[in-house]
Amino acid sequence: MQKKQIGIISGKGGVGKTSLTASLASLANNDPEISPIIMDCDVDAPNLALILPAENEKSIRTKDTYTTLKATFLEEKCIHCRNCIEENYCEFNALEWDQNNKIPKIKYLACEGCGACQVLCLEHAFEINPVKSGEIISYKTKKGPNLVYGKTQLGSTTSGKLVSESKEFAKNLEGFEENDLIIIDGPPGIGCPVIATVSGLDYVITICEPTPSGLHDVIRAIDVVQQFKIPFGIVINKSDLKSSFQEEFNTFIDETGYEVLGRIPFDLSIAQAMSHAEPVVDYAPESKASQAIQEIYIKLKDQIWNHN
Ligand code: SF4
Ligand code: SF4
Repeated sequence: MQKKQIGIISGKGGVGKTSLTASLASLANNDPEISPIIMDCDVDAPNLALILPAENEKSIRTKDTYTTLKATFLEEKCIHCRNCIEENYCEFNALEWDQNNKIPKIKYLACEGCGACQVLCLEHAFEINPVKSGEIISYKTKKGPNLVYGKTQLGSTTSGKLVSESKEFAKNLEGFEENDLIIIDGPPGIGCPVIATVSGLDYVITICEPTPSGLHDVIRAIDVVQQFKIPFGIVINKSDLKSSFQEEFNTFIDETGYEVLGRIPFDLSIAQAMSHAEPVVDYAPESKASQAIQEIYIKLKDQIWNHN
């Protein structure tokens, strides 16, 4: 099989993205034609690891990342002139005056590492340095395939870079050459981490619910994917939701002609599977939701290997 990378994204969180990713990962793992590797690039809130835990502690590898810049204050150089405060060197309000010691103090979380204080202080009392911004974790899951995920550190301003580093990290894992399907749980939204996730993918699934906010958010997610000219398909979760908006939602889908990869009906099995930290296709394989996801998986394979 030719190696393919797919991502599952959504305009906002909580619409079933991770649940779908876990089930697709399980189906791919049980597919004799496929050797998958799974990634969680929702680096600000990674939780795929809860559903796909490690086979054992020994297989867990971690790597710290230093992609965020922060200011450091060099007290020995400071002449206590107060210019950094009085002339508002910091646009982000990350500098405050320490009256007792007559020096500026840096508010770590507020500092964006922009470097203005370093340039403006004539005594060179500020330096800009990389700080730990997160970590990349990888292991062999109990179900079999490797999982790689990034996790940002509080105060990190570089989630997108962590996504890119996580993708590079995965490429260097033993066995990556043999993996022919990379399944990525992407972040919600349309920001930098999403852009870093979809860059270089062969196919994107955008998952949404048939509600006014669901439609609004899926349009934004599709906008991002179209910028990269990546083929995509929509998965509609809770597709049978009793809502007066259904008609408007379906009209939009019909008029745009966007590919609908599948519709997952409302099914309590999904919530039950999540509470047991299991992909629904394993927890309740005969459920309506699992049947729908199995159809999505077959269609996905056809899309990525036969049509793209
Ligand atoms: S850090 Fe620089 S600008 Fe601020 S008080 Fe010290 S010498 Fe003055
Ligand atoms: S690096 Fe930028 S954000 Fe950080 S303290 Fe200096 S001026 Fe403020």
